[in-house]
Formats: sequence, C-alpha cells, structure tokens
Amino acid sequence: MKYDFLIVGAGFSGLVLGERLSNELGKTCLVIDRRNHIGGNAYDEHDAAGVLVHRYGPHYFRTNSRKVIDYLSRFTEWHHVDYKVLSFTEGRYWSFPVNLRTFEQMLGRASTTGEFEAYLAGKREKIDAPQNSEEVIVSQVGWELYEKFFKNYTLKQWRRHPRELDASVCGRIPLRTNRDDRYLSEGFQALPKEGYTALFRKMIAASPRMTVRLGACFQEIKKAVEYGFLIFTGPIDEYFDYCLGRLPYRSLRFEPETHGAEELKKRESVSGKKGFWQPEMQVNYPDPDVPYTRTVEIKHATGQECDNTTVVREYPEEYGPGREAYYPVPTQESAALYREYEQLASKENDVLFTGRLGTYRYYNMDQVVAMALTQFEKLRMRFP
Ligand code: FAD
Ligand code: UDP
Repeated sequence: MKYDFLIVGAGFSGLVLGERLSNELGKTCLVIDRRNHIGGNAYDEHDAAGVLVHRYGPHYFRTNSRKVIDYLSRFTEWHHVDYKVLSFTEGRYWSFPVNLRTFEQMLGRASTTGEFEAYLAGKREKIDAPQNSEEVIVSQVGWELYEKFFKNYTLKQWRRHPRELDASVCGRIPLRTNRDDRYLSEGFQALPKEGYTALFRKMIAASPRMTVRLGACFQEIKKAVEYGFLIFTGPIDEYFDYCLGRLPYRSLRFEPETHGAEELKKRESVSGKKGFWQPEMQVNYPDPDVPYTRTVEIKHATGQECDNTTVVREYPEEYGPGREAYYPVPTQESAALYREYEQLASKENDVLFTGRLGTYRYYNMDQVVAMALTQFEKLRMRFP
C-alpha cells in the first residue's frame, strides 16, 4: 500500500499532524517511531509499583493558547494543578522560582513586595537587552541570587557556562515579587486526566486512516515503504547523515526509586505530607557536589491515589551513541549550524521538518502542538 504521508516520530508533533491529516483531509498516514511506545518524550506509564510516572522527565503541560487547549480537549479531560518546585541548597529548601517567599527565607522574617523590589533595584545589573543566560538573570536579580540558584545548576545541566547559553534558557524561569510560588506562569496549567499516553491512544483510536508502527527506524524502513510526502520529527542533522557536522544535544539519565507506605510514614517529617517522599513535586539541586539536577515525585502533580510513590533523580549526561537527544543546546554556534541544515532542508521539496528535534528548538509541548496545527493548515493548502 502507498501512504499519502510517512510521519517519522510518534510524539506530539507526529501524532497531531497524523490525526489532522487523516481526519480532516482523509489522507492515509503511517506514523513510525523507533521507540517501542507512542508519545515521544511525553510518554507516561504505570511503573511496577503502580505509580503513574513520566518516563522521560516531568512533563508539566501549560499554555496560553486557547486553540491548543480546545484541540487537545477533544482527546482528554484535564487535572488542573499548580506546579510547585523547591530549590535545595545550603542544607535547606528554598521557595523557587525566586519570589517574595524566597526573599523572606533569606531575611528570616516577613517582608513586603516593596522591600523586595527595593532590594532587587539595588542588586540588578543594568543590561538593556540581555544576550545570554547569565545576563538575563543578573539583570533581574543580581549576582547573589544568580550564584545561589542558577550558575551551578546551569553548569551541571548543560556543561556550559550560562554566558554561553541563549538568554532564553534561564530566561524561561519567572521572577515574582509577590508570594506566587508556582513554577510556571501560563494561564492554563493542567495534566491530561488519565495521562499523556491515554490522550495519545484516544487520538489514534479516533483516526482510522492513521497507522502507527513502533520499533521502526526511518533509516531502516524508508526503502520498504511507499509514500507521497515525508514529515520528519527526529533530529535534523541525523536525517542529513551529519554531513555538515553534529548539532549538540544534551542527554539525561533517569534513576527511579520507589518507596512503600511504611517508608513514607517515617518520611512524613521531611515531606510534611502523608504518602509523599519530598515536600513538593520537584526539588532542584544547584549545588555542584550533588551529581543530579532534580528529583521529581510526579504523584504530587498527577493527583494519583496510590500507597506507593516513585521519585526520579535526573542526571545530566553527554549525548552520544545509545543515548537520547533530549535537549537542543541553544548557543550561537549551534544556531548557526542549524541554519545551514535548514538551508539543506529547504531544498527537500517533499519533506517537512518539524517538532523539537526537526527544528532544533527548545520547545514545550504546547508550542509543538501549536506548530503542528499551523503546519497542518499549510499542508491543507498544498494537499487539499
Ligand atoms: P519527541 O517527543 O522527541 O518525539 C520525537 C519522536 O521521534 C521520538 O519518539 C523518537 O523516538 C522518534 N524518532 C526520532 N528519530 C527517528 C527515526 N530516525 N526513526 C523513527 N523514529 C524516530 N514540555 C513541556 O511543555 N513541559 C514540560 O514540563 C517539559 N518537560 C520536559 C522535560 C524533559 C526532560 C524533556 C527532554 C522535555 C520536556 N518537555 C516539556 C518538552 C517536550 O518533551 C517536547 O516539547 C515534546 O515532547 C516534543 O514533541 P515532538 O513530537 O516534537 O518530539
Ligand atoms: N535553571 C537553573 N536553576 C534552577 C532551575 C533552572 O539554573 O533551579 C536554569 C537551567 O539552565 C535550566 C533552565 O533554567 O536548564 C530552564 O529550567 P527548566 O526547569 O525550565 O528546565 P527543563 O524543565 O526544560 O529541563
């Protein structure tokens, strides 16, 4: 059989495009993924202890886009949640991102927005257009808070100095002078009620013209499948056989640890909550002598009722053979190399490169969904 579209990657990008093309335009789509599951990095599953976990790191859905919410709501109900994160350094937990509570913890007493703003005004570096991740933070909070929460965490996560990274990397972390201590600022913050994998399953079930084949690598099956147009959501440099050199990526290792009811009872003095290991869903560790960046107890966010809990430690790793390309590394050099690949891509008439890896952009889920919906509209013009 000849498919109208071959879609490489069964993550948000590939599945949204497959669903739209097959249901709106009646196209036949074959979606392949070399992993043995759907969902890409947003994949979640119940682990051996029955805890719903995000296999590839915590995925906090958030958006300001009504269009994205309306579209995804066809496939899921939502569990609304305020994502809460703490930073652990100097032997204690701090409210994070930096907000009035953090300032009060530093002072050891109650304070006000006015006092905090005056403190920041005295500490901020005057930089009109921050060019990198160091500048963006010191221009907001000054050197002391930068050193405490950002510098070493960023070095650990990226193995690059914040000065080498685009302002957008650290610039995504909000600063608030009130007591709002949510990690994110978007208006809509919620997880799919039954999880991401359930959402993707519904999307596939609703799309009879879309076929999904797992454990299938593009390089191996491209000659065996007939198709009219290719949508590629994998790494763009890999598609071109690294002919211009390798784009840098950052990888991670996830180490899960499950705790049962007995252990959790003893842990209540630390977590402050029955049935949990740590006080909030995520704790960041900026200290350089701690080898991991964060510990995530996703049960706080999913709202799952379960006697057990699973905490996942995240260790940053170099990207290389056998490892996943989790993060494009936003630097000036990588942007320049990407632009060269983009030139090559523009010469491929029947291929669309999209998604986080296909466009080499540090995009969140809602952004790749929005991008897929926009790409779909363009494809509709070309293949009415
Ligand atoms: P992916 O999900 O990466 O899917 C691409 C798929 O293509 C993969 O499954 C891969 O196996 C497959 N593939 C690649 N090459 C080939 C090939 N040659 N042959 C066959 N298959 C191939 N976003 C948020 O909004 N909130 C968060 O809290 C958040 N946290 C994150 C935490 C981590 C640790 C990471 C890594 C990402 C996080 N994200 C988060 C970003 C989110 O994962 C992405 O925005 C989203 O998954 C991108 O979807 P995608 O379909 O473009 O790519
Ligand atoms: N960051 C930091 N300290 C923190 C949290 C984040 O320095 O406690 C920096 C770090 O460089 C990180 C970036 O801000 O990569 C973005 O953080 P976020 O938590 O959004 O990262 P992601 O969830 O995308 O891994």
